[in-house]
Amino acid sequence: MTERQTLQQTAAGRRLLPGSVIGVLGGGQLGRMMALDGVKMGYSFVTLDPTPNSPLGQISEQITAGYDDVEAARKLAEQADVITYEFENVDAGVAKLLEEQSYVPQGSKLLYTTQHRLREKAAIEAAGVPVAPYREINSLEDLQSAAAELGLPCVLKTATGGYDGKGQAVLRSEEQLQPAYETLAVGGAELVLEKFVKFACEISVIAARTPSGSVKSFPPAENVHVNNILHLSIVPARVPSDIQLRARQLAERVAEGLNAVGLLAVEMFVTEEGELYVNELAPRPHNSGHYTMEASATSQFEQHVRAICDLPLGDTTLLSPVVMVNVLGQHLEAAVQRFGEHDELAESLGVVPKLHLYGKSEAKANRKMGHINLLCGDVRDALEWVEKTNIWRQD
Ligand code: AMP
Repeated sequence: MTERQTLQQTAAGRRLLPGSVIGVLGGGQLGRMMALDGVKMGYSFVTLDPTPNSPLGQISEQITAGYDDVEAARKLAEQADVITYEFENVDAGVAKLLEEQSYVPQGSKLLYTTQHRLREKAAIEAAGVPVAPYREINSLEDLQSAAAELGLPCVLKTATGGYDGKGQAVLRSEEQLQPAYETLAVGGAELVLEKFVKFACEISVIAARTPSGSVKSFPPAENVHVNNILHLSIVPARVPSDIQLRARQLAERVAEGLNAVGLLAVEMFVTEEGELYVNELAPRPHNSGHYTMEASATSQFEQHVRAICDLPLGDTTLLSPVVMVNVLGQHLEAAVQRFGEHDELAESLGVVPKLHLYGKSEAKANRKMGHINLLCGDVRDALEWVEKTNIWRQD
């Protein structure tokens, strides 16, 4: 518990100056990177995570207990001046308890909205921002008529619990409707059918909003997925500047429309015609924003701390072109080896690789173990480095 001179009461709520203690629900890599920046600014951190020695717990206080452990949540509330979360599937009941017992500027409403695809889409549309045409699906008959209306191909998704492409199926023919429905609707899961967007690329914009209502966004990242897991973020995104600007405006509008506090990552599809459709939101730091750690005047993690503490938001100017490449379990050994040696390739391309590892003990396949930010003069040089190192060919 800190002396309370770090707390200022404002019209919008509370301003928490450096010296305050930030409690983080979840001790994964996002929390760890938040703390790495927050500690520099003079904050200290305590996390609640069920796994001992979590990535964040290695560099902060940790309360080791389940997320549904009410006593542990109360302890977190006692120790922290402000509470945030670093993953989305926070139990709404726990979030509510913490809201009552402590200060959670992000609230639980935004989590409630983004935990359910139908609620999320309705909220995005209410903010005047386009999503791909969709229908709510409660029966096989619903699916058949919705598919006829929207036209194939379509994407059938569970409304809750899906991630990294899990809980969804692309439907290309009528014969695929029934088996996909039977697979995804198990246990009465709610479903949503989306029109398949023939996108030219996928981008994401991270916006930040403070309780006082100021909003800032980072330049869009162009995201490349492999096996439905983020592989690369390329910045600047290779889309015209007017589309980049519009993407930032849409993301800011969504953050305002949803009264978000903290970071809101907004994933979008860009079509050949230059249309933008929002696909998904994440109310937290996002993998596609890791590029900001070295390439931006302010990192997404510093921005999140600023936003939840109601400090003025930091400058989001991009200082250098950058490519972020994820290091999954199967890439770890080769990536670490490479960092032990002089990198002639990087030098000849004018690329500066910055390695970030998350301190996870077990390098399982497809597990996010770290990432590399490749600062460069031109993103093509960084992409050539990724290609020529051969580290990402071992899938
Ligand atoms: P999601 O779980 O919604 O992020 O979807 C995972 C990935 O599936 C996205 O990153 C897209 O590559 C693809 N996808 C999802 N929805 C659609 C859609 N409506 N049209 C085309 N591709 C989609």
